Amino acid sequence: MNLREFSKANLDRCESPGGFNHPLESWTTSDWFTAVVGGLGEAANIAKKINRVRDGIPGNAETPVQLRLELARELADTFIYLDLLAQSVGVDLSDIVPKVFDAKSETIGYEAKLEAEHQFMRSEKVAHVPKLLTTGDLPSFEDCGKAKEENRASKLQNFIWQNEPSSEAESNAFRFQLVGLINEQICSCS
Ligand SMILES: [Mg+2]
Repeated sequence: MNLREFSKANLDRCESPGGFNHPLESWTTSDWFTAVVGGLGEAANIAKKINRVRDGIPGNAETPVQLRLELARELADTFIYLDLLAQSVGVDLSDIVPKVFDAKSETIGYEAKLEAEHQFMRSEKVAHVPKLLTTGDLPSFEDCGKAKEENRASKLQNFIWQNEPSSEAESNAFRFQLVGLINEQICSCS
């Protein structure tokens, strides 16, 4: 499983009625930040206990092995929330992390780049992109008369990053079709 597939599964479980039944946009950016920082705080608390082991300070109820496992779990919890926070603001970590990593490598003159692997990560989704989009492919704005603009924007951003082809030509065609369909949908709403 790559990071893009994980993000999709993470969003599906968060929003699905059989999962957390928690629409991403029902929490503000501050709410998601609180979840991320809360998870990181739990991880830091385990690190504190591991430091106690290192320094021979009493107070831990867990064994050092248990603490290692708990640290791993809390870091994973934090990452899961970080991914949801990113998605809630329309950021695709699988797209931006390799780019930011490579940009820093460039700055410090480090030669190895992630770009090749990054292209591979994105190439997998091309096969799933419909050649021609229809209004049925779009996220629904069922209560479009009342829906808040930011909810629509967030739904659209998620749709784009889950479906946009990786090649520039295909991506341009995809966006061109999307604009047409959005116009159609807005007209049928009003
Ligand atoms: Mg936790």
